[in-house]
Amino acid sequence: MAPEVYFSALKKTQSHADCFSELICGINADISQFGEGSFVGIKMTVGDEKSTGNIKPEVVRVLAEKLKGQGARPFVFDTNVIYTGQRQNAVDHLNLAYRKGFTHENLGCPYIIADSVFGTDSKAVKVDFHNVKEIKVPSLITVMEDLIVLSHVTGHIMSGFAGSMKNVAMGMASRSGKQIQHSSLKPCIDTGKCSLCGTCIEHCPVSAISEQSGTAFINSNLCIGCCECISACKLDAVNINWQEDADIFAERMAEYACGILSLIKRKLFINFAFDVTRECDCIAGDDPRIVSDTGIFASRDVLAVDKACFDMLTRSRDIFSRGGRIKAHLHEFKYAQEIGLGSLHYNLVGDV
Ligand code: SF4
Ligand code: SF4
Repeated sequence: MAPEVYFSALKKTQSHADCFSELICGINADISQFGEGSFVGIKMTVGDEKSTGNIKPEVVRVLAEKLKGQGARPFVFDTNVIYTGQRQNAVDHLNLAYRKGFTHENLGCPYIIADSVFGTDSKAVKVDFHNVKEIKVPSLITVMEDLIVLSHVTGHIMSGFAGSMKNVAMGMASRSGKQIQHSSLKPCIDTGKCSLCGTCIEHCPVSAISEQSGTAFINSNLCIGCCECISACKLDAVNINWQEDADIFAERMAEYACGILSLIKRKLFINFAFDVTRECDCIAGDDPRIVSDTGIFASRDVLAVDKACFDMLTRSRDIFSRGGRIKAHLHEFKYAQEIGLGSLHYNLVGDV
């Protein structure tokens, strides 16, 4: 039988927190699996300094209070990232989170960075997929039994669509795990387009880009495939192989998500289709929204929740394909089902 995806539509004048409260009433049976005394990790991201579309603390609080009311011990967590910015270490990351309002007082529970101060807490776990033979995750993930993933749905520079699957694959991997997922990406400079403005050189976290013969040059031996140069370049002068490289990247993400979720007993995935931007919360500031606010989706099946959300947001056209250039999300959906991550078929209930 197809897994259920519960949908709560955002009503006119309704706040995001009220919409979430409504959804939580509708999925009481799913929430009640997180019982008395359980430590429930709520995975989410605060986004970058400039991002305004991220899930807000008052929304997360609705869930934290509900869990505490049934005797569970919720905590919010995220991991450090591999690109430049305020989330490369736990000190800057937590300071950023507090500035954005993710305090204990506002959340109703603690906020922690799961992979230690410098992102070095990384444990290898054997898996057996086509591309990935071991996953690297913070040790917390290897002992976690209860997980709720809150994802702000956005576009993504590589994978087209970003929802729960990406939040798990990248967001719950350690920094070295993130690097492995990115390692198939080998960008190069289109010298005909490059004006040598220096922006990508400044942004590259591993100094892999330098000037050579009047243009930028990427040393592929140093590059970790983080994509930061692609988003930094305003002249579209950084290229990757959008077909092959992006598909392998998508496969690695699906494999990571599958490996990570196989470690955890009780799971729930919640996608927020509000303030949907072309770029993810690592890059987007208050960028224009690419689709009107829709509502919130929840399921115990990570693939079903992403697919249901994707289907609703792309009813008139695929807003995540960037004019047809990106197809990795379509490949990722198909591949994820093939490796047993979840189901592309679902039964939509709630406000339908
Ligand atoms: S950001 Fe673009 S234009 Fe500027 S140096 Fe890099 S590749 Fe060249
Ligand atoms: S060259 Fe680009 S993709 Fe490679 S590490 Fe530097 S910024 Fe990241």
